[in-house]
Amino acid sequence: MKLLSFTEKGIYCPTGDFYIDPWQPVNQAVITHAHSDHARPGSSLYISHPLTKYLLQLRLGNNNYQTMEWGEVIHKNGVKISLHPAGHIIGSSQVRVEYNGEVWVVSGDYKTENDGISGELEIVKCDVFISESTFGLPIYRWKKQKEIQFNMQNWVLKNMEAGRNSVLIAYSLGKTQRILPFLNPVSSDIYVHGAIWNTQEALRMAGVQLPAVKRVTSDFQRGTIKSGVIIAPPGAEASSWVNRFEPYSLGICSGWMQVRGNVRRRNADAGFALSDHADWNGLLDVVKSTGAAKVFVTHGFQSSFSRYLNEIGIEAAEVKTAFGDELEEQSESQLGSEVN
Ligand SMILES: [Zn+2]
Ligand SMILES: [Zn+2]
Repeated sequence: MKLLSFTEKGIYCPTGDFYIDPWQPVNQAVITHAHSDHARPGSSLYISHPLTKYLLQLRLGNNNYQTMEWGEVIHKNGVKISLHPAGHIIGSSQVRVEYNGEVWVVSGDYKTENDGISGELEIVKCDVFISESTFGLPIYRWKKQKEIQFNMQNWVLKNMEAGRNSVLIAYSLGKTQRILPFLNPVSSDIYVHGAIWNTQEALRMAGVQLPAVKRVTSDFQRGTIKSGVIIAPPGAEASSWVNRFEPYSLGICSGWMQVRGNVRRRNADAGFALSDHADWNGLLDVVKSTGAAKVFVTHGFQSSFSRYLNEIGIEAAEVKTAFGDELEEQSESQLGSEVN
């Protein structure tokens, strides 16, 4: 029997009788992070990092929650389980599973550059590594965060000089917390969409220190701010929600913005290729560093990435999961009922 297997409900450990990021309701779910494609409703027990728990409560409401610090060990039928930082978003964790001396690691989503808020990715040695591959193509190579920060600040300052607002499109969970420290030094007037406000509040309750922001309320009038910064989740740029900020420039923060055509396609004035996922080299470095003899590649460019790993002598197989790519992570109730 394999330590972990891929079932119709998700990644399952038959010996320990628990699932990792299941997409259907199960008895025991170990959750890597709070993005909606990894944390689905309906399970009887959710085991996660304490910071993830606050975010799960916001998204999934009251449930049976159990928390584990990074490095803490629990046992299920003799299977050792521990969580280790994944560097993806606040609270994001890899799951290490050990039984009879065999170690498997489920990465969840991860990123190699330390962003200063999500914890630094830990390389966990293992026999089998289950890796994401959201940006698993050689064209994806990220610039350093410092450089993107500099570009974003200059863009905001230029808009201010021209008397325009700066509207930035960023995921409410992950990207927003990452760009706030970029924006805080150049603007004291940062406004956020209601969905982002709710995420910020959940993180504040969890004890995370975040720069102060103001909420865009439904009675927010056109002309209220003239050279401010507004952060809204994906999708808002195509709705009438943004009209109240005219005149404004639109910037989109996403790894997909590395492809120039995507900036044009979304009618943006600027694209910031800032991602919460590893780029091509990051994925390769991590896979090699784990020392895994076998790699399973999940959501993203799993067929090309696993083919490449096989070519360089690392046994790899593609696994189809119900996890979305980074684009789908926006589809949580970020706009939903929260249109103000
Ligand atoms: Zn994610
Ligand atoms: Zn994901």
